[in-house]
Amino acid sequence: MINRARTDTPVVSLRGLRKQFLVGGALPWSPKRVVNAVDGVDLELREGEVVALVGQSGSGKTTVSRLILGLERPSSGEIWLDGQRWDSLSEAERRARRLPYQYVPQDAMGALDPQQTALEHVMETLTVLGGCAPADAEAKGMAMLRRLGLAERRDALPREMSGGEQRRVTLARVLALEPRLVVADEPTSGLDPDRRGSVLEDLIGNLPPKAACVLVTHDMSEARDWCHRVVVMLAGRVIEEVDLHAARPAHPYARVLFDPWSGPLPRGELASTGCPFRPDCPDAAGVAGGRCAAELPTLRPRGPEGSGAHRVACHAEGPRQAPSADPAQVGAS
Ligand code: SF4
Repeated sequence: MINRARTDTPVVSLRGLRKQFLVGGALPWSPKRVVNAVDGVDLELREGEVVALVGQSGSGKTTVSRLILGLERPSSGEIWLDGQRWDSLSEAERRARRLPYQYVPQDAMGALDPQQTALEHVMETLTVLGGCAPADAEAKGMAMLRRLGLAERRDALPREMSGGEQRRVTLARVLALEPRLVVADEPTSGLDPDRRGSVLEDLIGNLPPKAACVLVTHDMSEARDWCHRVVVMLAGRVIEEVDLHAARPAHPYARVLFDPWSGPLPRGELASTGCPFRPDCPDAAGVAGGRCAAELPTLRPRGPEGSGAHRVACHAEGPRQAPSADPAQVGAS
């Protein structure tokens, strides 16, 4: 269970964020077309907060996480980090200011240098990126390896490490920089279920107190257990933001993601007009006036007026009373 204090100070603010990719065109019979990988995302992360970004492959969650750190350029919209407009900075300006904003890649092995030991990886990060004197880097690097249970593996090369140890080395490099924001792209992907929790414990338990964290994950139990808030994406849009410790998911797609027994699994067919989830939606027939076919639902607050903590993009949803908060029951049915 997440146990980190949050403040109201935003670390990340995304406003109307869009990213389009041009695909196809390689062959005469495959015309070029525009894909909206991210389509109008508004999101805020505050100090201390850990937010899960979930959704199926192609939902846009990885693209959002890369946009936040400037690894992709947005097509339109705004990215603010610590009150500073980030998307309009030049590449050189971003590079000069990116130290507090760190990325944990999904492919740990690919991110490590086959010739460097665990300690050398951390020391190199501290000296090259963190400006640490070489004499101090060894002591700081060892302190971080110790915190992550890797002290005895200081001289191990990546090929000599287990998958969990490789992940821990990538975490050690990022955490040694005392980041302000960590974006972790499926950091437990490919690990045994019993190892995943300990990797997340190492990541979240060692974040600086006011650091924010975006956890991109396919694993709904990780989102529920390790995050303050869950942001569900579908077809490049946010379709629900919910604190699972206080409420159940309400969007029909999010309900099935978190509780596969609650209805038929989506076939993944998306409508090109109206609500994209309509072909798979069990609730669409109950919405009057054909709105689901005609109108794209926007994200609106659910629960007591003005609470804003739970937002859903669905025509079947409207303002209503707050659900009774029973953390023990969340996701249990
Ligand atoms: S807007 Fe309509 S189709 Fe979309 S999720 Fe809600 S009820 Fe289903």
